[in-house]
Amino acid sequence: IVQYKDVHKSFGQTEVLKGIDLDIKPSEKVALIGPSGSGKTTIIRMLMTLEEPTAGIIEVNGENLWQMEKKGEWVTADENHLRSIRGDIGMVFQHFNLFPHMTILENCMLAPVLVKNESKSEVKATAVEMLEKVGLGDKIELYPAQLSGGQKQRVAMARALMMRPKVMLFDEVTSALDPELVGEVLEVIRDLAKEGEMAMILVTHEMDFALDIADRVVFLNEGVIEEQGAPSEILMNPESERLQDFLGRFT
Ligand code: ATP
Repeated sequence: IVQYKDVHKSFGQTEVLKGIDLDIKPSEKVALIGPSGSGKTTIIRMLMTLEEPTAGIIEVNGENLWQMEKKGEWVTADENHLRSIRGDIGMVFQHFNLFPHMTILENCMLAPVLVKNESKSEVKATAVEMLEKVGLGDKIELYPAQLSGGQKQRVAMARALMMRPKVMLFDEVTSALDPELVGEVLEVIRDLAKEGEMAMILVTHEMDFALDIADRVVFLNEGVIEEQGAPSEILMNPESERLQDFLGRFT
């Protein structure tokens, strides 16, 4: 469903991604691991169209994200093209980015009401359903400030689910949380993973969690995919010295 083909990304003189090839199947759950600064966030920000690749191709459902064909020529994609592809992609960030002056129900309803051609009552019904899914069905009228960090992160997930994405991106969603709140958030992701149909890309430092839910673990180091494979192979029997070093930090 997602394909990166020889994707490079530079910020100024610094090449952060040095030729990424990655093919993610529909419903596949991929954990992206690697040291700080290795380019994990950049990989998923490009898919969310928050960052443009310097070279290479990113496709979603076979459609080129950043280029579009016009009269037989490839040109930079316009905002409409990006928006239509981006509709299939949902993202949850480390920080929740909820609107403080809106209830959590309103937070979930905002984007679909603006961009989808659905009535407010339909959107509301979906929002209640999604908030129930993340275990917040009894809190829909509360404001973000009245929730714990873990609950806010679950609202952010419900909000991303509102668009019924085919691919969900999770960028270190537990790293800003107090340790005792991590479990409840991982539990929701685990439930979503079990439901099955959505592809997921998870940037995570929770190795046990990756082992538990991922179909594949991809180890990124200094802007290249150094090793990838089944979680048990990658996490239990790492081949490269760099991956061994990296995993050693978690034991
Ligand atoms: P972490 O685990 O710390 O989040 P990461 O693997 O997600 O790290 P990225 O956030 O993708 O790494 O960053 C990769 C490199 O690119 C870093 O050296 C970072 O400083 C640099 N970088 C990221 N975004 C920008 C930007 N907008 N401008 C300049 N440099 C950037």
